[in-house]
Amino acid sequence: MQTKVSHSPVQLLEEPVLAPFGVTVYLKRDDLLHPEVSGNKWRKLKHNLTEAAAQGKDTILTFGGAYSNHIHATAAAGRLFGFKTVGIIRGEETLPPNSTLEFARDCGMRLLYVDRATYANKYQWEFLESLSDHFGDFYLLPEGGTNALAVKGCAEIVPEIDVDFQCICCCCGTGGTLAGLVASLAPHQRALGFSVLKGGDFLAGEVKQVLKAYRNAFEGMPFVSSSFQIIKDYHFGGYAKTSPELYQFIRTFEQRHGILLDQVYTGKMLAGLYDMIQKGHFKAGQTIVVVHTGGAQGRNREWEEGT
Ligand SMILES: *Cc1c(COP(=O)(O)O)cnc(C)c1O
Repeated sequence: MQTKVSHSPVQLLEEPVLAPFGVTVYLKRDDLLHPEVSGNKWRKLKHNLTEAAAQGKDTILTFGGAYSNHIHATAAAGRLFGFKTVGIIRGEETLPPNSTLEFARDCGMRLLYVDRATYANKYQWEFLESLSDHFGDFYLLPEGGTNALAVKGCAEIVPEIDVDFQCICCCCGTGGTLAGLVASLAPHQRALGFSVLKGGDFLAGEVKQVLKAYRNAFEGMPFVSSSFQIIKDYHFGGYAKTSPELYQFIRTFEQRHGILLDQVYTGKMLAGLYDMIQKGHFKAGQTIVVVHTGGAQGRNREWEEGT
């Protein structure tokens, strides 16, 4: 099975509003890795699919909300690499399905909707047993796709970057991507994770826990620094909440650079980073790399069409 990705480019962001602050910002274009399995989801799935095949599993089962980029990516990857896929979706089925779930279904993903209480206890043995009674044997991918193999995939981002930097940024849902960045930093580098959730207090603990799992699973991996920080000030009201200012930022960014951002993840991170730079958070002379984790499928289409 061929799941090796080609390196994504690193691109200088020329930004007049940031020029007075003397920092250099690059964008690591993981959004260009694949048209359907975008960004960090590709990184997180890659080694998991190889492992599933090695275990002789032909079905991938995973969990997510109705707009989940992870559900979308898993469905697409399943179709690409010949796995059956099952998506356990939080909440009631709504008809017609939204474009994320319609795409997943078109990829052949079987969808099961479960109420919020069941979803909250989704990793309990009895529930998983009932799922394997119904769907047969499967390879289980946690919500958001975050596990030690996902960290391994995301740990491949930093070695691809051929400019020296002091700080690297990504957005955080589960923190798996951030953990991968932290796993391969040099001692003079630090990582910032922008929480897209209100109440991202749990994230630092999650990142440490999944880093530990990664280290245990892949002993002999290089030095793991703990030099990361969760930025909690730019969730814009909470997960998937937006504001006119956020949309304005995304629109301006797109017009200037021709690069799409989404309103759930990368738009919030970049708006947050620009604000921090303008508030003097970074010393002049520093170089910052921002990982564009993809997510274009989750863009608000009504807004995109200008309605
Ligand atoms: C899923 C997703 C994230 C969150 O990644 P985690 O590893 O769960 O923190 C960030 N950006 C985009 C575009 C995503 O789709």
